[in-house]
Amino acid sequence: MLEINNLSVNYGGIQALQDVSLTVNEGEVVTLIGANGAGKTTTLRTISRLVSPRSGQILYNGKNITSLRPDQVVQAGIAHSPEGRRVLARQTVLDNLELGAFLRSDRWGIKADIEKQFQIFPRLGERRDQLAGTLSGGEQQMLAIARAVMSRPKLLLLDEPSLGLAPQIVREIFKTIVELNKSGVTILLVEQNATLALQNANRGYVMESGIITIEGQASDLLIDERVRQAYLG
Ligand code: ATP
Repeated sequence: MLEINNLSVNYGGIQALQDVSLTVNEGEVVTLIGANGAGKTTTLRTISRLVSPRSGQILYNGKNITSLRPDQVVQAGIAHSPEGRRVLARQTVLDNLELGAFLRSDRWGIKADIEKQFQIFPRLGERRDQLAGTLSGGEQQMLAIARAVMSRPKLLLLDEPSLGLAPQIVREIFKTIVELNKSGVTILLVEQNATLALQNANRGYVMESGIITIEGQASDLLIDERVRQAYLG
């Protein structure tokens, strides 16, 4: 479904990604793990076209999407739930969800999908008219995921959904991620919590200083000595 070939990205003089290649097959949960600053967020931002690569290619269902605009990437079926949640703090929960559907014009479909999100995340339903900035961290993360899902993506890019959240909330969020995947959404998951990510993924890639260093089945990576020593504690 997604094929990244030899992607390199620079920020001025800093090389953030170097010859990164990875694939995500339809129906999979694939995780990208690695230390702070390894280039995980940059990878997702490049797929969404929020960052332009210096070289390399991004194919989506066989089509080259490397030079699309960010809105065209969403239109193609790829949604991004960014790191740090980035919900619109001064807008209500409902407004944030409507924003996630900004490219859709099926008013009734949007309404129905919002209600569906409230079933998946009842706390969001209870707080539908509340300003997003007043939600707890966990609720903001739920909103960020729900907002991304409002574009009806085939592929969801999830950046650090567990960041800064209590274990109970993290469990809840991962349960939803697995359910989303079962409902047909393919997922590329960036996580610092490597154990949790690998436990919930089919395959994984380890990134170090902008380079993919290890890749394999998630179950193999969980018992890989190099991965264990560096990332699983
Ligand atoms: P984190 O978990 O901290 O987000 P990451 O693995 O996602 O880490 P990136 O955020 O992709 O890593 O950063 C990769 C490298 O690029 C780092 O060296 C970082 O300092 C640098 N970098 C990221 N964004 C920018 C930017 N906008 N301008 C300059 N350098 C950047």
